[in-house]
Amino acid sequence: MMRPSDKIVIVGGGIAGLSAALALAQAGWPVVVYEKVITLREIGAGLQLGPNATRWLRHWGVLDALLLYSSAPQFIHLNDGKSGKTLTSLPVAHFSEYHWHAPYLTVHRADLYQILAQAALKQPRVQLHYGHEVQSVSGSFETGFEIDINHQGQIIRQRARLCVACDGVWSPLRQRSPLFEAARPSGLMAWRATLGRAQLPESFLSRDHDQIQVFMGAKRHLIAYPIKTGQEFNFVAITLKDKMATQHPLMSFERWTTSIRDVLSCAPQWTAWPLFVMNRLRFLDTGGVIYLGDSAHATTPFAAQGAATAIEDAGALAHGLSLNMPLKQALQIFARARTARMRRIIRRGHVNRFVYHAWGPLAHARNIVMTQRQGQKFLADLDWLYREQS
Ligand SMILES: Cc1cc2nc3c(=O)[nH]c(=O)nc-3n(C[C@H](O)[C@H](O)[C@H](O)COP(=O)(O)OP(=O)(O)OC[C@H]3O[C@@H](n4cnc5c(N)ncnc54)[C@H](O)[C@@H]3O)c2cc1C
Repeated sequence: MMRPSDKIVIVGGGIAGLSAALALAQAGWPVVVYEKVITLREIGAGLQLGPNATRWLRHWGVLDALLLYSSAPQFIHLNDGKSGKTLTSLPVAHFSEYHWHAPYLTVHRADLYQILAQAALKQPRVQLHYGHEVQSVSGSFETGFEIDINHQGQIIRQRARLCVACDGVWSPLRQRSPLFEAARPSGLMAWRATLGRAQLPESFLSRDHDQIQVFMGAKRHLIAYPIKTGQEFNFVAITLKDKMATQHPLMSFERWTTSIRDVLSCAPQWTAWPLFVMNRLRFLDTGGVIYLGDSAHATTPFAAQGAATAIEDAGALAHGLSLNMPLKQALQIFARARTARMRRIIRRGHVNRFVYHAWGPLAHARNIVMTQRQGQKFLADLDWLYREQS
């Protein structure tokens, strides 16, 4: 069992690392977070955060701060990309509050980082060190860990009872573990852009643009939603990583509805982001290092759950370590439960990909089914994902 004085080192101060710091400190343990970057950067763009994530954020006391920077769209509109026709609308705000008792939000990633980091800095049990790159980890949870950290060229050695790797899809710790596991290319790429409200083209403004909009088409889709309380809009286009897609996203959406082509051509800059995935899920390695977030389960963003499940991982780890049982057993229970849940979430992402990227007769059938089925029914199918876990 963990003693209250047992120190926990977290490698990486992204969403997984900061969430783990808050969860573990709130459960009573002293936590040290090492993050290799010197300061927080405006990286990436928007995130959808379902009730499975916002419920944990409320539990850690940071949801109210996040609400000041986020949007809570009323609907997810599922649209045919070529015609622009809305096939069905999912009343996500009402459903989330009423059935899952937590909001469905859209946020800028940097806002979420800032809020998590500020909360961690206020928490007396958390030390957060930027500009500290973890170089190596040795030991086990039976003997404790020794962690070597590079700070401005000097190596600092830190001892800890547990070491939690939250070092992202490129996880150096996972690559250096006895199992040597690196991420692999998924064959897909994401194009991302952010536009201010005043920059939105008229053709996009004439849609119900303050909602989450999904545009589906053959082997590609595009998602748009408001961030920064609706002052900015986040656009993500997912395409195959082929020759056409590597030039400009417009090339892949040529015959799509005008509102999408207008958005694609007016955004001043599109950032290309090749998507990598982990071959297998891993929450615990043979040496007892714990993995959370992308380092455990990086996957494609079809279920919009990467950050949300990093937040869930953190909550589940703190809960698992609080169980009144030997540490090894508690960690195994944690890893088994998270593996089962992540498998289901990843399968859901595969289903979404099949539906969003369908073409020919399948796309036609999809459109008929979506037009005839009520939006609430699609949300009810996701009850297992968003409902509070026991
Ligand atoms: C196009 C796209 C859209 C997405 N949309 C959504 C969405 O709508 N909803 C959602 O929930 N998720 C979404 N995701 C997924 C989500 O962004 C990621 O799953 C999440 O950010 C992973 O967080 P993390 O903390 O595990 O990893 P990271 O954010 O990568 O953090 C890892 C951190 O570890 C640090 N680090 C690495 N090595 C070391 C070291 N040796 N020492 C110290 N520090 C180190 C890094 O500097 C970094 O800060 C999307 C992803 C993509 C690509």
